[in-house]
Amino acid sequence: MSNNENSKNNRKRIYLSSPHMSDEGYEQQYVQQAFDTNWIAPLGENVNEFEKEFAAKVGSKAAAALSSGTAAIHLALKAAGVGKGDIVFCPTLTFAATANPIIYQNATPVFIDSDYKTWNMCPKALQEAFEKYPNVKVVIVVHLYGLSADMDKIMEICNRHNVTVIEDAAESLGTYYKGKHTGTISDYGIYSFNGNKIITTSGGGMLVSNNEERIQKARFWATQSRDQAKHYQHSELGFNYRMSNVVAGIGRGQLKVLEERVKKKRYIYEFYKKELGHFHGVDFMPINDWDEPNCWLTALTLSGKVRPIDVMEALEKENIEARPIWKPMHMQPYFEQYEYVGGDVSDKLFENGVCLPSDSKMTDEDLERVCKIVKGLWSK
Ligand SMILES: *Cc1c(COP(=O)(O)O)cnc(C)c1O
Repeated sequence: MSNNENSKNNRKRIYLSSPHMSDEGYEQQYVQQAFDTNWIAPLGENVNEFEKEFAAKVGSKAAAALSSGTAAIHLALKAAGVGKGDIVFCPTLTFAATANPIIYQNATPVFIDSDYKTWNMCPKALQEAFEKYPNVKVVIVVHLYGLSADMDKIMEICNRHNVTVIEDAAESLGTYYKGKHTGTISDYGIYSFNGNKIITTSGGGMLVSNNEERIQKARFWATQSRDQAKHYQHSELGFNYRMSNVVAGIGRGQLKVLEERVKKKRYIYEFYKKELGHFHGVDFMPINDWDEPNCWLTALTLSGKVRPIDVMEALEKENIEARPIWKPMHMQPYFEQYEYVGGDVSDKLFENGVCLPSDSKMTDEDLERVCKIVKGLWSK
């Protein structure tokens, strides 16, 4: 025991998911180029090239590099025409950044439950929501933890109602749904390069669409809606949402190692599954036949005597980070005033779910260390 205590302080912390720059130093090369030309800000070659390279990577016609994923959701809602009083369907099981921009646009969210098959938006609950709120303007779908939602069913329902769909692919860059990148299956897709995402620029986001004119418009709003005039003229409300040229340089470098990161994250998932999958009450996050997930985080549910809090506490004692699954929006003090359609699936996932450390810098030794601690909980 005292041995353990001693070594604890010497042991490096293991994170859920933290920044991981390329071994080759690609990011610094692009950032250096920006410095060499003094174009560290505002826009410049890195921003233009990052947009082109990103759009090509995911297979979309156009992309706008922005200051965050949240900003990308905000401008997607604006591009889709969401305004005061409009209803927007949003999955309840997500990070608050999916829902906040709905409020920025003075629109009204209606939260939709998950299903166990995907952990994402339940098509049945979505159908029910359409019956209750036929005048809905936009549907936001999230691909949580890098698992793709049931897109064929969701798109079929949304197309039948002629409604614009936005995919929040903040956590799923590198995930394919039936061979297509998540974020490119519907009208708009958004991605995040926040510090904990699969690739990061320290902070940033991307909006993609095959509608080039709408992406051009998003760039215009993101740069304070400056009209084409020498004097400063504005005919529309603007935002300061553009990505800087330095940040875009980091993004260009990170994009080169995306496949490597996905490979490692999937390895981590397989490792945990092999080591922990057979323990009583353990169910790993669902991977469907259509899905090639990026496994951004490995999440699982616990239905036996070992509870998520036991796992989190045992790991924290050893300087290892683990987290619960997102707390549903309809249970949040700020959002509980809004309508909710569905049952208790997302509540149950929150109650029983835990995310294991899934940092792409983890070694086999780190993974074994985590597994040993978690396994120990069953023999208590
Ligand atoms: C991280 C995240 C976002 C927001 O991205 P930021 O770049 O941090 O603004 C949006 N939605 C989901 C599901 C996320 O996980």
